[in-house]
Amino acid sequence: MEKEYTIRELTKLCHETAQEKGFWDEKRNIGEALMLIVTELAEAMEAHRIQDQANFKEELADTFIRLFDLCGGLEIDIQEEIDKKAQRNKQRPYKHGKIC
Ligand SMILES: [Mg+2]
Repeated sequence: MEKEYTIRELTKLCHETAQEKGFWDEKRNIGEALMLIVTELAEAMEAHRIQDQANFKEELADTFIRLFDLCGGLEIDIQEEIDKKAQRNKQRPYKHGKIC
């Protein structure tokens, strides 16, 4: 059976792997790291556009891996942040009170 990771564990795993591969040897440019996450989404968009489902899923995985790595590098407990925001969203009105 595959191991099921918590978000906290994925953050640790992705950041440790990136560190081992040298991506944190120098101080990271956070703006660049954020744009690289966007790049993975753009790659997912292109895979979707050409109906390459396998690549689409891989690019979504890349997006999460980069995001978890960044959160690990910035020492952000993204699991806690998601929990808090998901609970806040649950309390918001239908379509967050917007008409359209
Ligand atoms: Mg990619």
